[in-house]
Amino acid sequence: MKDLLIIGAGPVGLYAWSCAGLMGLSGYIIEGNSAPGGQPAELFPDKAIYDLPGIDKITGQDFVNNLLANTKKYCGNMTLLLETKVSELTEINDGFAVKLSNNTVIEVKTILITTGNGVFTPIKLEQLDSNVTYQNLTYQINNPQQYHNKKIAILGGGDSALDWANHFIEEKITSNVTIVHRREHYRAKESSVAKLQQNQVTEYKNYHIETITTNGELITEMTLIHNDDNSLVSLQADYYLIQYGAKIAPSVISQWPLTFTRANKIIISPSGQTSHPRIFAAGNIAAYEGKYYNMATGFGESINALYNITKIIHGEKYHPGYLGADLQ
Ligand SMILES: Cc1cc2nc3c(=O)[nH]c(=O)nc-3n(C[C@H](O)[C@H](O)[C@H](O)COP(=O)(O)OP(=O)(O)OC[C@H]3O[C@@H](n4cnc5c(N)ncnc54)[C@H](O)[C@@H]3O)c2cc1C
Repeated sequence: MKDLLIIGAGPVGLYAWSCAGLMGLSGYIIEGNSAPGGQPAELFPDKAIYDLPGIDKITGQDFVNNLLANTKKYCGNMTLLLETKVSELTEINDGFAVKLSNNTVIEVKTILITTGNGVFTPIKLEQLDSNVTYQNLTYQINNPQQYHNKKIAILGGGDSALDWANHFIEEKITSNVTIVHRREHYRAKESSVAKLQQNQVTEYKNYHIETITTNGELITEMTLIHNDDNSLVSLQADYYLIQYGAKIAPSVISQWPLTFTRANKIIISPSGQTSHPRIFAAGNIAAYEGKYYNMATGFGESINALYNITKIIHGEKYHPGYLGADLQ
């Protein structure tokens, strides 16, 4: 049986991962998304963060990259599993049997919940067959160079849609970008809206999708219809990037026998313990009176929870000392 399961690889889970490694704990960290990083990576990758100790200013994604670099060095015997959630939790002697969404069952002595505000999943195009993986449809860009010299249609009118439209042109990945928005006005920074024109992005504002034509796993055409005058436009692209935003997927953890606030946060004690003695929580999911929700608070909660977890693993008298002292 392993020592620990950390659920959620946002900033707090990632910090907990490297601290758990430095404390010599064994186990797993699971992340429901296809990439770690939580809110800084998903919601504010380019925004500057000013309130981290010892760091003047850093963007959300750069900070996540730094946390990941630390986990590479210090993860010890803790393994990351992406696109994995908990399906079932069963109590066994001195721990838990946890069935994961990939159908494997792991056994751990303790659990640290760092699920923050939940798993963000992209809002999908409703008109398509959800059983088909369309080869030229994407909700997330992982490798922009894949779109070199391709004709790209971006659907959405928020910051991320406009940022990608401008990025493709400014980075000279392709000069053929179309953006489709269902409203007359974008919900994005004025500077990004102005850049669309400078970058000669083709814009269809106040249009929505009337029909989508497919051939097997390919989208061959979208027909757009104007919201006011019903005029039709045929949209044909090599790739369709959907940027309709994200929603939070439901989690089974909210059904676990823990004590929750009305806002569905888990109440913890000063040692980070939930109402179950072997389940701890830290970061945005954890609540107590007077809490200020930011990352620094979450980091403190997570290392404190891990300290108390080591006492469950090694006995009440155990003290991990200052972490990494043995590495010098
Ligand atoms: C726009 C914006 C700006 C912000 N600016 C700042 C700032 O300047 N400074 C600051 O300190 N804080 C800032 N914050 C707050 C900060 O982002 C949060 O405090 C922080 O992200 C909390 O970290 P977390 O790891 O607890 O949760 P999250 O960041 O929410 O990460 C949780 C992770 O757990 C995963 N997960 C959730 N449920 C499950 C599940 N059931 N199974 C598996 N994985 C799961 C999620 O996919 C996610 O990766 C900002 C927040 C926003 C929205």
